[in-house]
Amino acid sequence: MKNEITKIPQSSVTQALAADYFCIYYVDTISDKFIEYSSSPEFRELGLPFAGDDFIAFTRQKFEAFVHADDQERFLDSFTKENVIRSLDSHGIFTMTFRMLLTGVPTYVHLKVTRMMEEKARHVVIGISSVDEQMKAREAYERAHLNSMTYSRIAQALADDYFIIYYVDMQNNHFFEYSSDAAYQELGVEKEGEDFFKSASENALRVVHPEDQGTFLHVFTKENLQRILEEHRVLSLSYRMMLDGEPTYVRMKATHMKDDDGHHVIIGVDNIDAQTRREMAYQKQIEEAENRAKDEFLTNMSHDIRTPMNAIVGYTNIAKEQISDPETVRESLDKISASSHFLLLLINDILDISKIGNRELQLKPEPCDLELIFQGIRDMIYLQAKDKTLNIRYDHSAVRHFHVMADVLRLEQLLVNIISNAIKYTPEGGSVDLIAEEIGMEESGARYRFIVRDTGIGISEEYLPYIFDTFSREQRTTINSVQGTGLGLAITSRNVALMDGTISVESKVGEGSTFTVELELPLLEEAECETAPYDSSHFAGKRILVVEDNDVNAEIAMMILEQFGIHAERAENGQIGVNKVQSSSPQTYSAILMDLQMPVMNGYDAARAIRAFDPQIPIIALSANAYEEDIQACLDAGMNAHLAKPYQPEDLLAVLQKYL
Ligand code: ADP
Repeated sequence: MKNEITKIPQSSVTQALAADYFCIYYVDTISDKFIEYSSSPEFRELGLPFAGDDFIAFTRQKFEAFVHADDQERFLDSFTKENVIRSLDSHGIFTMTFRMLLTGVPTYVHLKVTRMMEEKARHVVIGISSVDEQMKAREAYERAHLNSMTYSRIAQALADDYFIIYYVDMQNNHFFEYSSDAAYQELGVEKEGEDFFKSASENALRVVHPEDQGTFLHVFTKENLQRILEEHRVLSLSYRMMLDGEPTYVRMKATHMKDDDGHHVIIGVDNIDAQTRREMAYQKQIEEAENRAKDEFLTNMSHDIRTPMNAIVGYTNIAKEQISDPETVRESLDKISASSHFLLLLINDILDISKIGNRELQLKPEPCDLELIFQGIRDMIYLQAKDKTLNIRYDHSAVRHFHVMADVLRLEQLLVNIISNAIKYTPEGGSVDLIAEEIGMEESGARYRFIVRDTGIGISEEYLPYIFDTFSREQRTTINSVQGTGLGLAITSRNVALMDGTISVESKVGEGSTFTVELELPLLEEAECETAPYDSSHFAGKRILVVEDNDVNAEIAMMILEQFGIHAERAENGQIGVNKVQSSSPQTYSAILMDLQMPVMNGYDAARAIRAFDPQIPIIALSANAYEEDIQACLDAGMNAHLAKPYQPEDLLAVLQKYL
């Protein structure tokens, strides 16, 4: 084998070439044997063998020590047998340039592998020549032109994405700036200079929006930029620039240039004005929607509260005026009581809504008597209608079953809304009919139809599709200065949907409107609707401790108790209550009514203190804190039950009956 290689003719051409190479090797690519043809003194000093087996392995192994540390990885990656052969096969040559340490000095060398012109094409010749001078000259040239070359290359690459680009040499603070933006160019900022940070802070005062200058100057110091780039590789800052006299949102991004020692930083400023404004508009829309929802909620609340509140105020005045007429006073009080009942239900619901968000309303069906609901509606409408000469007719002759399960509040609310609209939008002399009829029997209950028909102003065809939208009102009605919020029917249709019912409307301008609601309501036996009567003998002679700091509340509770023959005693706060129970003999009190929020000691602590020495005595919380978690907290503190304020006497007695 060795023979074969030594047989290679050492022509005058190769000899002539040898002068240009540090060394030349012949290699047999099949056997991998090699022999050195010539070698310069510097090369010989490296002490490499002249001949041997497995050239590539030898080179990779031996050269590793002499290849400049920065080039080693690249050298080892490229100079593999597969790579060399592949390159020879496809290009007829393999070359690479790297630095070698020759006599300890990093020297650029060029390694070139070519095939010998022979039949079998198995021998290659490998030459390593110095390209040190050329490379160093090129480096010097590049260094001299680095700024402008790099700058223009980068500027070109980034010009599409950034409207201003800076190239900064962090070692000497030199910088170049490139911008194709006309508005920016007009600002006449320095394009090239000696001290980037000085120039940046001077420019900031001219081109950065006054409100953003502080942040800009704070972030944009050399130390800060360097620190952030070291820690995060990228610095990003959004601020406003004044372009064409207009505040324009921009985002600046600074980053080290890759394959660089960190001296060179490239900074791009991106015009994000349109995008930022879009996002801000979107954000504003969201905020507005949230505000609208809040407003809607408040308006909703006042709308719904006003109806029963009007009745309470109105009937109170009537009762006062007619105080000497017991019949009128009694009637008024009944109506006041019905409306306050409605109001209370409503307040509870509003608290619910405010807690769970408008969308998650839940029905609370309870046994009820439709006859009483119709009566309640009439009472609520009466005041609104009484000042207007209208012919109002109620007809529920076609209803056969009155005892149903229904959410009384919602049912009343939805019918009152439709009827009060009919009254509102029907001029004097017109008529309004409320007809309730039973139209069929389904498995789950009876099907009812409620028709509200008026001979009022009617609704235009164009407006009709929007009539159930929140806050929508027909222009004509606003012009006619009829008061309204555009919420009533939205609430109504929501209520109908909650009940799985349908609502429809037919109308003709000038002739009147007909609203039709259809609902299915489960039927009940009559007896199921009645609450069990109280057995007052149950209560006679019992003693109950009322722990309550508020005088009025204490008085109401004690009056109710005393009406039923219960002896009531008061403690003004939790501590007094605990003392009273503790200092009295056991079973002095049959039960304790416990307020929750009190000075000195609250109801929870008092209940816990009492439980410590009396595990038996029934403690019933009476409180305006009526959320689920409040009730749970009462039970956790050892109380037996919770009754929300305000309460009806029968509610209180029903609870007591259970525990006495
Ligand atoms: P508002 O508080 O404005 O009455 P509603 O949601 O109850 O709000 O009604 C929405 C709009 O529908 C009203 O502003 C009115 O233009 C129209 N409308 C409702 N009921 C009638 C009716 N019976 N006759 C004529 N127009 C009506």
